[in-house]
Amino acid sequence: MTENTIIKLNKKIVQNEGSPVRLYQQVLKKIDNIEDSLNAFVTITPKEGLAQARESEKRAKEGKLKSKLDGIPVGIKDVFCTRHIRTTASSKMLDDFTPAYDATVVKKLKDAGIAIVGKNNCDAWAHGASTENSDYGVTKNPWDLTRVSGGSSGGSAAAVAAEECIFSIGSDTGGSIRQPAAFCGVVGLKPTYGRVSRYGLIAMGSSLDCVGPITNTTEDAALVMETIAGRDEKDATTVEIEVPKYTEKIQNSIRGKKIGWVKEFFQMGVDKDITEAIEKAKKIFEILGAKFVEVELPYAKYGIPTYYIIQTAEVSSNLGRYDGIKYGFNAKNSDNLIEHYFKSRDEGFGAEAKRRIMLGTFVLSAGYYDAYYNKAMKVRTLIKKDFNKALDKVDVILSPVTPTTAFKIGEKSQDPLQMYLADVFTASINLAGNPSLSLPCGFDKNRLPIGMQIIGKHFDEESVLNFGYQYEKATEKEIWRQYKPVTS
Ligand code: GLN
Repeated sequence: MTENTIIKLNKKIVQNEGSPVRLYQQVLKKIDNIEDSLNAFVTITPKEGLAQARESEKRAKEGKLKSKLDGIPVGIKDVFCTRHIRTTASSKMLDDFTPAYDATVVKKLKDAGIAIVGKNNCDAWAHGASTENSDYGVTKNPWDLTRVSGGSSGGSAAAVAAEECIFSIGSDTGGSIRQPAAFCGVVGLKPTYGRVSRYGLIAMGSSLDCVGPITNTTEDAALVMETIAGRDEKDATTVEIEVPKYTEKIQNSIRGKKIGWVKEFFQMGVDKDITEAIEKAKKIFEILGAKFVEVELPYAKYGIPTYYIIQTAEVSSNLGRYDGIKYGFNAKNSDNLIEHYFKSRDEGFGAEAKRRIMLGTFVLSAGYYDAYYNKAMKVRTLIKKDFNKALDKVDVILSPVTPTTAFKIGEKSQDPLQMYLADVFTASINLAGNPSLSLPCGFDKNRLPIGMQIIGKHFDEESVLNFGYQYEKATEKEIWRQYKPVTS
């Protein structure tokens, strides 16, 4: 585990042993050394970030730090609007788009005093599970540069693992925070739908999109959540439920608490090394006093087809606004308006966005709506009920994040169905809306990180973080915690 956690760095800054400016310069140096081979950022913002770090430094000297995040270098996935900083969604369509406002999550972080490092690379429009769909090149995995970093928040996870920033903010529509976190050996939290504002997030699937932190430790994730969670009047789906002091709650013992175990998950083609690592984690939870209870999620196996109907339907609608007129890419030499629309969308969108627009338009079209979209919405309700029923019996559910560890660049990019199956353990949780934490639990035989997933009740981020933190503390001395990425 890295020394560079927010909690540790903040202590140094408070005691005036650590300097936000020096910290920011260290991060820039790291970027200078490895970014050419890693490609975790679309845009790097040293001017803005250094100015922010200088302000933090002043506040530190006066003992007036705004929060524990004050002076901490952050990466923002390039799907969040950042005022006066280019925001591309990793698509050529938005290559020259500079927003006039900050997403709520960015504003909250700025108010807390962070120093922005830049905008992290991702699959274009967050469509993908490997960051190979970016128009700005693939982000490599810091543990093996021939492998993918995962997706769609691949740049956000790789940058944290490679210490190009101390934490980052990602978005998760079907697994995009948790899967890259697992592939890169870092922690990622997908909060409950409605827990963190989506205002200023370039929408993918509006009923599925969640905003959350990617960090080195669970404690850091808890800390970031204290800043970014909560009701926002600019996002009507956020909810007025008090945001707990997560960093205090995670200290509680998990003795006597119950963890759900879904046997079928491990019969769904999961790598042997992943099953073994999670079984080991199970033993550790038992030593900590938690009890395992078998639960069933009979509809979860329909998660992928259901997700790929609902999500593409929403994508086709959300991408409708990019017409070459209002904003974004503008095709040259059209003879008339209709041709201009066609040309701009044809040249501006990549293959994956087009595939999703076509699928989504099809499932919403008259004649097919009932057979696909409507049916998928009914199955979505059944999946949600499944999770509610299982979580009535237990506090959290333990599951794999992914069936495999990080795969080779190019291994799945020609086969969209294979790529979609990477979401088999994550997408159904977005359909149900529950919170879920992905955290490292070991390595496979190729020394690639393995992640596990702790799923909780709606708005009970507190429990998933509590279980994650207690596991982390109990395994602090494990040898695999000493392993370092090849970028170190
Ligand atoms: N891999 C999934 C997809 O391509 C999830 C993407 C996401 O969560 N943004 O749809």
